[in-house]
Amino acid sequence: MSTENTSDQLFNNSVKILTDLIAFKTISGEDNSSLINYCDEILKKLGATSFKTFDNEKRRVNLFATLKAKHPSNKKPIILSGHTDVVPVSKGWNTDPFVATVKNDKLFGRGACDMKGFIACTLAFAPIYSKANLDRDIHFSYTFDEETACIGAPILIEELKKRGVNDAICIIGEPTNMKIIDAHKGCYEYTTYFEGLAGHSSAPHKGVSAVEYASRYVNKLIELREKLKERSPKDSIFDPPHSTLSIGGIFGGIAHNVIADKCHVNWETRPVVKEDGVFLNTELDKYANEILLPDMKKVFPNSFITKKIIGEVTGFDRDKKSNACELVSNLTGDNTREVVSFGTEAGLFQEIGISTVVCGPGSIEQAHKIDEFIVLDELKKCLNLLDGIKGQSISNK
Ligand SMILES: [Zn+2]
Repeated sequence: MSTENTSDQLFNNSVKILTDLIAFKTISGEDNSSLINYCDEILKKLGATSFKTFDNEKRRVNLFATLKAKHPSNKKPIILSGHTDVVPVSKGWNTDPFVATVKNDKLFGRGACDMKGFIACTLAFAPIYSKANLDRDIHFSYTFDEETACIGAPILIEELKKRGVNDAICIIGEPTNMKIIDAHKGCYEYTTYFEGLAGHSSAPHKGVSAVEYASRYVNKLIELREKLKERSPKDSIFDPPHSTLSIGGIFGGIAHNVIADKCHVNWETRPVVKEDGVFLNTELDKYANEILLPDMKKVFPNSFITKKIIGEVTGFDRDKKSNACELVSNLTGDNTREVVSFGTEAGLFQEIGISTVVCGPGSIEQAHKIDEFIVLDELKKCLNLLDGIKGQSISNK
């Protein structure tokens, strides 16, 4: 940013755009198309080309827009990526969560840090990229439904693979206080449904208790959890070092004296390596289909056990020679590498060969909370990073 003046303008513009973005109530699962159109308009006016990918009902949209290099070089294109959805709001906010409110050095609103702040910065900076002598493409990637187990991003990434956009660097601007995050565990969530046969509790042999079979299933999960500990990789960078597993809830039954015909179990696992997820699911499915289900069917042939995948967020693996981390380190001077306990879309980009880093403005401490905010100074830091990217993306010729 060459002068004080442009720098102020840029910052004010990012606050203005963030205010607009917060006003779109893009709660996960809901229509986000107006927000996407808003972003698309801004970028199109600057000469960007773009394409959209959709969910099945075409209600939720991913946008991928590109400012083309004017002097193409062999530098890898850069993808600036953020999710457009926000988590729902609970009661107790001191301000309207969908009206950005600036108080002192903070801006309050749902999505302020997670992660419309980053998107606003990229849109505010886009005019500068568009005027620059870019020697590599700069892409803007805005996805839907990250918060509900990354539903949108895989649809976009499939398309990127088809279009051959996989030799690239991706910066995912989740709130990290602009620190470099280069790994996290996967996060797989499931609900397993059990259906048996109701009956009078005085004749347990005539019914099939879904609750009892669910309990056995839960026991198996706990047994497998111990196996996951044994599988812990030697040089694991995570805390705890092994894949974890947790039972979130068991729901079933109506009365003391009624055999429960329905029950479901919510559970999740956070694999440190993909193989652990495969191991766990294989063992578990085998137990359910070869031990529990035949037993249930002996009494009631229509019994079933169905495991529903709520979401399988791919883990993000540390890459010791990451182009993405190097780029950000060079620009921010931060040479640290950290792991986090929350999931992101990073593993999905990484999976198709894109060098990826998670680094963005704001703190995860304020995400998903009442009175979510972003410290305004974080936006300035993010704009500085984007300015640094410009410096690394212009031809000197
Ligand atoms: Zn987020």
